[in-house]
Amino acid sequence: MNINTVIRKAKELNPKCDSELIKKAYWFASFYHVHQKRESGEPYIQHPLHVAEILVEHGLDEKAIAAALLHDLLEDTAATKEDIEKEFGEKVASLVEGVTKITKLDVASKDDYDAENIRKVIIASTKDIRVILIKLADKLHNMRTIGGLPPERRKRISREVMDIYVPIAYKLGIASIKNELEDRSFKILYPSIYSDLEKKLERTRKGREKEMVEIKKVLESELKKHKMKVYVLGRVKQIFSIYRKMKKRHLLFEEVQDIIGFRLITKTVKDCYQILGIMHSIWRPIPNLLDDYIAMPKSNMYQSLHTTVIASNGKTFEVQIRTEEMHKTAEEGIAAHWKYKGICGDKDFDQKLSWMRQLLDWQKASHNSQEFVDMLHVDFFEDEIYTFTPKGRVITLPKYSCVIDFAYAIHTDVGKHCSGAIINGKFATLRTVLKNGDLVEILTSKTKWPTREWLKFVRSSRAKSKIKQHIKETQDVPVKVVSMPSPEKRGLEEWIVDVEGIPDARITLAKCCNPVPGDMIMGYSSRSKRVMIHKVSCLKIAKLKRTKKSKVEAYWVDTIGSIVEVKVDAFNRVGLFAEVLNAVVATQTQIKSAKAKSLGEKDVECSFTIEARSIQQLQKIIARVRKIKDVTKVYIGSMR
Ligand code: MN
Repeated sequence: MNINTVIRKAKELNPKCDSELIKKAYWFASFYHVHQKRESGEPYIQHPLHVAEILVEHGLDEKAIAAALLHDLLEDTAATKEDIEKEFGEKVASLVEGVTKITKLDVASKDDYDAENIRKVIIASTKDIRVILIKLADKLHNMRTIGGLPPERRKRISREVMDIYVPIAYKLGIASIKNELEDRSFKILYPSIYSDLEKKLERTRKGREKEMVEIKKVLESELKKHKMKVYVLGRVKQIFSIYRKMKKRHLLFEEVQDIIGFRLITKTVKDCYQILGIMHSIWRPIPNLLDDYIAMPKSNMYQSLHTTVIASNGKTFEVQIRTEEMHKTAEEGIAAHWKYKGICGDKDFDQKLSWMRQLLDWQKASHNSQEFVDMLHVDFFEDEIYTFTPKGRVITLPKYSCVIDFAYAIHTDVGKHCSGAIINGKFATLRTVLKNGDLVEILTSKTKWPTREWLKFVRSSRAKSKIKQHIKETQDVPVKVVSMPSPEKRGLEEWIVDVEGIPDARITLAKCCNPVPGDMIMGYSSRSKRVMIHKVSCLKIAKLKRTKKSKVEAYWVDTIGSIVEVKVDAFNRVGLFAEVLNAVVATQTQIKSAKAKSLGEKDVECSFTIEARSIQQLQKIIARVRKIKDVTKVYIGSMR
C-alpha cells in the first residue's frame, strides 16, 4: 500500500478533495513513525495508510483521511497536538486528539470492564462522528492483521471488539464494518466452532449454489411477467449470524434453513409492496416472519420489507425488498436480526446514535457541498459528562459538575468528608469542574464537613439534597434555593422589532400588510403582552383604531447579528434531524454547528448556529422548518 493509491481512490470518489493535505499528512506521519515497525515486521506507516484507505472507501473527506494517517502519532511518537495543529489546523488536530482519547481507554488490557458504559463513554466524549469512524477503521485493520500478535493478546482484542466496537458499528448502521469485525473476532474467540462452520459451509456450497440459481430463475421470470424492473441479488449468510441463529434456536447447522437469501432492489416504495405480493403468490410465507421496516424503520434508519418463504424443495429462504435509496442507506451493510443486549434498553443512548447516524447520512448526501459539512460540529451530549473512578467504574454527572458531585455519586459518606481529589494524576480542589473522561480519585478527611458554600458549586441533585439535608440537621437556618431562570423562547419577531413600554412583548408581524425591515411600522396590543405589527400605511389600521386595541410605538432593531442560533422543538422520530438540516441548507444557508438533545420522553430540541445574511433569509428558514411534520416550535436562541 502506498499513498498514491489512497489519493487516487479519494480523487475517484470526490474529485474536489484536497490531495495536498493528504500527502502532507502522509509525509508528516512517515517522519514520526520512521523507526517503528508493526508486530509483523513491516514499517509502521502501513497501518495508518490502510486505515486511511478504509475511510476513503466509506466516502470520508480529506480532513478525516489526514487525521487517519496521523491517528497514532500522539499515542506512539513524540509529536504533540500543537505540532499537528500548526501543520494541519485545529479540526484535523482535534480529530486526532479524539481518536487518541479512545485509544487511551485501552479496554483490551483490562481484566474487567463494563462494556455498556465504555460504549457510552466513547459515544459521549466524541464531538465529531468522524472520530468514531476513524476508530472503527483502526480496529478493522488491527483485526485484519491480528495474526502477528501473541494468542492471549489476540483474544483480549477480539473480546474488546465484540463487546465495544461491533455494537457501535451496528447502531451506526455501518454493517459492512460490523460484519467483518464480528466474523474476525468470532474466529479468534471460538476457533474450533468457526472452522467447523467454515468447513460445513464449504461442503454444502455446491448444492447451495445450484439451489440459488434455480430460485433466482423462477424469481426473475415471475417478476418479468409482472413487468417489474428489479435487480436480484443472491447472498449467503455471514458465518457469525449462522452461529447466532443456531445458538438462539438450538439448531444444528443442517437445521439452519435460510442460509441463503435474496435482495430485491427496485425503484419505488409502491413497487416494494407489489413485489412482496408477487413473492407470496409464488411461495408460501412463514407467518410472523414478515417485517415491514419501510413503514417502521429501525432506529439505525434501516428500511426494507423482509419475508421468509418456503421453496418448492421445502427449504426456507429470506427475501428482502427495498428501493435503491434504501439500499444506499443500507449499503454499508444490513442490520442484523437481533438486538444487542444492554444498549437496546437504553433509549437515550439509542437516540443519540440515531441522530449521529442521521448526521452521517446527511453529510454523505451533501458530499459535493463540502463547505457546508466542514464546519459542522456535533454536540449531542451537552447535558452529561462521563467520568471514571480509579477502578474504571463510570460515573455519569450533569455537565459542569465538580469534585463534590463526584464524591456524592460514589457514596454519601465520601461526599460528606471529601477534601479534594486527584484528577488524571494531578491534585485538584473541591470546586474543580470535571470534564468528559476524567479519572477521579477522591481524597477524604474525617475533619471535613459540608458547608453552605458547597451548594454554589454542585450541579447534581443528589449532592444538592444531601448537602442541604446535612445543613438542616446541623444548623437551624433554612436553606434558600437559588434556581436559574430558564431563557425565554423568543421568536424572530421579538429579536427584530422593539416596542415601547412593553418589555417582554409577544410580537407578531401582521399578515395583511407584511411589514419588512425599513417599512414605517406601528404596533397594536390586544392583551397585555401581545403586539401586532402593521405598516403605518396598512388599510386595516383604520378599522383597528375603532377597537379597544391600544396603539404602541414600534421600531426595527438596527442590526441583527450575523451569527444566529435557530432552535427547533419537535416530537422526535427517525429522520427528523436530517429533515431539519435539509430544510436549512435548502435556503443556501451555511450551518456552523448543529446540536440535538432530548427533552423528556418524546420531545427534542435541535439547534443550529447559522450565518445569517438578512431577516428575509431567517424568515425563510423558519417558515420552511415550521412546515416539517412533528416540529412544534421554531425560535431564535441568540444573535451575535
Ligand atoms: Mn492505530
